[in-house]
Amino acid sequence: MHQMTLAEIARGLADKKFSSEELTKVLLARITQLDPQLNSFISLTEELALEQAKAADARRANGESGALLGAPIAHKDLFCTQGIRTSCGSKMLDNFKAPYDATVVSKLAAAGTVTLGKTNMDEFAMGSANESSWYGAVKNPWNLEHVPGGSSGGSAAAVAARLLPAATATDTGGSIRQPAAFTNLTGLKPTYGRVSRWGMIAYASSLDQGGPLARTAEDCAILLQGMAGFDPNDSTSIDEPVPDYAAGLNGSLQGLRIGVPKEYFGAGLDPRIADLIQNSIKELQKLGAVIKEISLPNMQHAIPAYYVIAPAEASSNLSRFDGVRFGHRCEDPKNLEDLYKRSRGEGFGPEVQRRIMVGAYALSAGYYDAYYLKAQKIRRLVKNDFMAAFNEVDIILGPTTPNPAWKLGAKNSDPVAAYLEDVYTITANLAGLPGLSMPAGFVDGLPVGVQLLAPYFQESRLLNVAHQYQLNTDWHTRTPTGF
Ligand code: GLN
Repeated sequence: MHQMTLAEIARGLADKKFSSEELTKVLLARITQLDPQLNSFISLTEELALEQAKAADARRANGESGALLGAPIAHKDLFCTQGIRTSCGSKMLDNFKAPYDATVVSKLAAAGTVTLGKTNMDEFAMGSANESSWYGAVKNPWNLEHVPGGSSGGSAAAVAARLLPAATATDTGGSIRQPAAFTNLTGLKPTYGRVSRWGMIAYASSLDQGGPLARTAEDCAILLQGMAGFDPNDSTSIDEPVPDYAAGLNGSLQGLRIGVPKEYFGAGLDPRIADLIQNSIKELQKLGAVIKEISLPNMQHAIPAYYVIAPAEASSNLSRFDGVRFGHRCEDPKNLEDLYKRSRGEGFGPEVQRRIMVGAYALSAGYYDAYYLKAQKIRRLVKNDFMAAFNEVDIILGPTTPNPAWKLGAKNSDPVAAYLEDVYTITANLAGLPGLSMPAGFVDGLPVGVQLLAPYFQESRLLNVAHQYQLNTDWHTRTPTGF
């Protein structure tokens, strides 16, 4: 039962082969049995899950239908869930029970999803390995000595290990696509503004975007359908109609123009990954796509720009965690300043503290022009590169990551080494573009992802290309041994 995709579950429920309650019980038992190896959940919500599953079964018995009605999922632990701990992977919020549901959570609940729990993540979504979580590192089900990627590492590990079919995640600089690549999943970061950020604890507000993590493009289409749409509570949400994503999966790729940036294949890319990307290009050519070499000349500046902008926004967003209204408060504060200092010093881990300091420095009066303003100018150049490229091609293709998942602890002493691994993903966030990662093969038994980028609001095009690719390849069907 645990091997089913969301699409298969939807068919099984519609055909009354099993109930949502039965499926939920099977998956909860599987999580209890297998998750101790992975640490992919921060909280399990068994009671809520069984209640939601029974309610979904009752709705179905009353004649309702829907691809998500009775579908078990989990939420990354930065989506606020009413009355349930929403920790953001931080000691700061270990005691925080959200007073309301995030829009993504309430929309999916209304569609009939069953919430099995809240998944582990890098603290405040800062990281690429899921090692900065206060709740401990998450392990990659493909090799328990390796990281699952981050910051949505818990969602990725859980779905890859078949503990559940799909989960929500967020992507500020790659946190949906990179863990998807590291765990053999399909993950989609939508266009900025496509999915509401209301109730999604902010890391870097101009970059953050929620999206689906699942095994197939078809399942990403199903989950995105339940997440996307205008939300008056989020001032950056965009009032664009939401297309029928599942209906768009079967378009022909005949004549599709795929741009391959020459800058993607420079030094730093594992040559074995480069070979797998070439194979996926050949596969898409067989389906009728036309390949064109393109250039993204400002790509080399994207990492430094991102690692100024994201920490700058984080330093501002995280100023609300001060020990006064909610979150961790130190014992016996001597005065207000002591309360602030010790609450924040105790509540935030080292990576979060590092980013707050870098961000506050970049925004300070004497350095604002040199760092923050400069980074914003680079951000515009990165976007302009994409706009020029999309005049010539329909999608852009390349590796999701330069290397496969590294060993746990391997980059802990050198944060910049981890930042460099984001080279292919962060440009989409700087430009606000949609991007998808899908399985493309293995290196030393570890999964490799191929990334597709599209113009604004062309999520359907990404899902269509990925679905056609998945109808003709079987990488995405491989299961990690032991799960
Ligand atoms: N690795 C990037 C960072 O640490 C991206 C994280 C994310 O997308 N949330 O900022």
